[in-house]
Amino acid sequence: MFSYRHAFHAGNHADVLKHTVLLAVLRHLTQKDTPLTVFDTHAGAGLYRLDGDYAQTSAEAADGFVKLVHAKLSEPLAPLLQDYVDMVASFNGKDQVKIYPGSPFIIQQELRDRDKLKLFELHPTDSKTLSANIAQLEVGRQVAVLREDGFEAVKKFLPPPSRRALLLCDPSYEVKNDYGRVAVMVADSMQRFATGTYAVWYPIIPRPEAHDLPRKLKTLATKSGKPWLHATLTVKSSKLLQDAEGEVVRPGLPASGMFIINPPHTLKAGLKAALPQMVSILKQDQHATFTLDSAG
Ligand code: SAM
Repeated sequence: MFSYRHAFHAGNHADVLKHTVLLAVLRHLTQKDTPLTVFDTHAGAGLYRLDGDYAQTSAEAADGFVKLVHAKLSEPLAPLLQDYVDMVASFNGKDQVKIYPGSPFIIQQELRDRDKLKLFELHPTDSKTLSANIAQLEVGRQVAVLREDGFEAVKKFLPPPSRRALLLCDPSYEVKNDYGRVAVMVADSMQRFATGTYAVWYPIIPRPEAHDLPRKLKTLATKSGKPWLHATLTVKSSKLLQDAEGEVVRPGLPASGMFIINPPHTLKAGLKAALPQMVSILKQDQHATFTLDSAG
C-alpha cells in the first residue's frame, strides 16, 4: 500500500483522457448559477514538476501531454483538447511545460467564489504537499484538504447543501480491492444523492476486476435510470514484451477509461471530436484506439 505516487505518471496518456473529460464536465457544470461542490476522493499532490526527479524517471508525460502540445495535425485541435492544452499552459510560462496540474488544481481553477472543493488524500507525504500547494492559493475555506479515506469520508458530505455536485473518483488501484470499493462508494453515494455527476477513472489492464468495474457502473446507472457515458483510450497493446535478453517486460499502462454517470449532455459530441485526435497523437502501436458509448 502507498507505493503509488502520481508524480511518476503526471501528464501521461491516462491523465490526458481523465483531465480533458474533467475539464469539460467542470466547464459545463459551472455554467449554471447554483453553487457547485466538487469532491476529489483521491486527490494526489495537486501540482507536479515535469522536470523533477519523479517525472524524469518515467518520462510518461513525454508520451502524453507533451506530445499533444507539439502535435502537428492537418486540422485544428478539437475544442475539448484545445481547452485542456490551454488550461495546462496557464500554469506554465510561455513556450515551456514544466508544471503539470493535477485534478485539485484543475478543479480549483474552474470554481466560482460560491463553489466548494473537498480533497481527500491519504498518503502522508502527498497529503502534506497538497495542503502546502493549496495554502499558496490563499482560497481560505473554499478548498478543504482532508487526510482521510476518500471512499468512506465522502459519504458525510452527501447530499451537498446546494444539491449540485461533481464527484471525481481516481484511485491508484494499487490494491485490487479498490475496484470493488469504487463500485460500492458510487452505489452508496447515488443512494444519498442521485442527481450528482459521478466521474470514475480506471485502468484497462488484463485483470478481471478492471473489466468488471465499468460493467458494474453501467448496471448501477441503468438500474437507477440515470444517463451514463463511457470513454476509453488505448495507446498500445497490453501484451507482455520480451527484451533483448529474453526477459519479460511489462509494457506499462496500455489503456484507461472514464465512466461518467449523469454526464453533461454536451460531453459525447465533444469527445467524439477529441478522442480520434487523442488516438492519432498518442498512439504507440497499431493497437491504439478509442471507444465512446452512452445511454440515457
Ligand atoms: N486525482 C489525481 C489527479 O488526477 O491529479 C491523481 C490521484 S492518484 C491516481 C491516486 C491518489 O490516491 C494517490 O495519491 C494515493 O496516495 C491516494 N490514495 C490511495 N488510497 C486512498 C484512499 N483510500 N483515500 C484517499 N486517497 C487515497
